[in-house]
This record gives sequence, C-alpha cells and structure tokens, in this order.
Amino acid sequence: MKILIVDDSSTMRRIIGNVVMQLGYKKDQFDEAEDGVKAWKLLNESKYDIILTDWNMPNMNGLELVKNIRKEGGHIKTPIIMITTEGGKTEVITALKAGVNNYIVKPFNATILKEKLDGVLK
Ligand SMILES: [Mg+2]
Repeated sequence: MKILIVDDSSTMRRIIGNVVMQLGYKKDQFDEAEDGVKAWKLLNESKYDIILTDWNMPNMNGLELVKNIRKEGGHIKTPIIMITTEGGKTEVITALKAGVNNYIVKPFNATILKEKLDGVLK
C-alpha cells in the first residue's frame, strides 16, 4: 500500500502524514509532493494506491492534477481524496465531476480521514 500526499503547505503535509501513520501506515508507505507538477512526476515514476491532494497549490493545482490523472497514465482508477479549505457545494461538485472519489474539508481529524480512506479503499 503506497500513498501520495500532495499539498503546498509543508505543515499540512506533516499533519496528513501523521494522521496516516496514526492509522497504522509506515513512513516508507507515503511520498509527498508540494504541487501538481511534482505529484504528476512521481505518479509517472511509481505506483500509488491512493492519492490525497490539496486543491489550492501553485504551478498545477489539485483540480488540474485530478483531471490529468483521470485522463491518462497509470492511475486512471486510483482513489483520490481531495483535502481542501474549498468546502462550498459548487467546489465539491466540481471536484467530484473531475474524478475525485471523496472530499475532506480542512480542518479535519484522524477519524474523518480514516472513514474516508476506508470508504475509498473498500
Ligand atoms: Mg494549498
């Protein structure tokens, strides 16, 4: 099981990583990227089982990343959870239409992330 965590905030990547470890995953089971461009590069180099991505990021944002993932490459069907401050109904619908499997609005806790992970990994 390998997880990709994408967020331009290093603090947020650390928080998400800590929660993922609280859920029993080891540090070598996740990689981090600070924007969509870096994430896209990693996705083309390795195979991930789940992608957790922010929306607002420089260079390539989370929505563009999701669209690229769903269009081509080895992760067309890989579960994607968007973790973002963009909690409006329009944003959620836009993200789901782009191919996001689940959605978490910041701030969140370990219980919420566990529920969403379990949900998409089923
Ligand atoms: Mg951000």
